[in-house]
Amino acid sequence: MIVMKIPLLEEIHRRVVLADGAMGTQLLKAGLKSGGCGELWNIEKPEAVKAIQSRYREAGSDILLTNTFGASRLRLEKFGLANRAFEINRAAALMAREVMGPNLYVLGDIGPFGGIIEPAGDVPQEDAIAGFEDQARAFTSAAVDGIIIETMTSADEILCALEGVRRAAPGTPTLVSLSFDKTPSGEYRTMMGMTPADAAELAESECVDVIGCNCGAGMEIDDYARIVQDFRARTRKAVIVQPNAGLPELVNGKIVYRETPEMMASGIPALVKAGANIIGGCCGTSPEHIRLFKQMLDKM
Ligand SMILES: [Zn+2]
Repeated sequence: MIVMKIPLLEEIHRRVVLADGAMGTQLLKAGLKSGGCGELWNIEKPEAVKAIQSRYREAGSDILLTNTFGASRLRLEKFGLANRAFEINRAAALMAREVMGPNLYVLGDIGPFGGIIEPAGDVPQEDAIAGFEDQARAFTSAAVDGIIIETMTSADEILCALEGVRRAAPGTPTLVSLSFDKTPSGEYRTMMGMTPADAAELAESECVDVIGCNCGAGMEIDDYARIVQDFRARTRKAVIVQPNAGLPELVNGKIVYRETPEMMASGIPALVKAGANIIGGCCGTSPEHIRLFKQMLDKM
């Protein structure tokens, strides 16, 4: 029997869809050296990446993000791998599709390229766009269900990424997720000063399909829920939220994240109530977090 998959943008209006958890912290656990290039593992250690992704699928993730957060050409340059950007992104997309099969969802993942765009910085806009365009073109070879531009802090960079995606993969659903920090006065702002209101406005004016937040400093589940609520009040766009398991702390020479799967899962109802359509996890979350998120969502 052939099961026709419901397009992601439709499915997220029928139920809350579960994304995956962290990749970076899982790669470190699997032996990646801190500061190493986890994206090169798509080529050199594909079995290790696949093992992590399979655990997310088994835990209940409906959506998998490709292991390409740092795989824009500009960021790979730091490892002397700029000329392998397309190959790395393509391998990641094919691998994610292999893990999820045709009936679950794969999102091509685009993270910040690690520089600042002109005129505020020294990276020409066209270079930033070309790097993102490369990634998006590679993703299309595995027929991704959408492309997520995540952990973003500046409107300039989001606009460049959207332009790159539109050049290479027009018509592909776009998700934009920003990283807000909680300020001492209790407001939420990205490192570059954007507020949730700015993000909602950008989602509207740029016809982004899904707006959201992930990562960030000083954030607890209730903070993410408040931002989701704020998005909901300002835009009818669907919302994705991927909280951190707290901030990394060094305990006895090991990096630990304070928020246990149980602690975070208890916050899931608040995220759903706030209006989240897609829920996943960012830094420090594991397959066990996702398994308990799934249990909680099933109960609701
Ligand atoms: Zn994160």
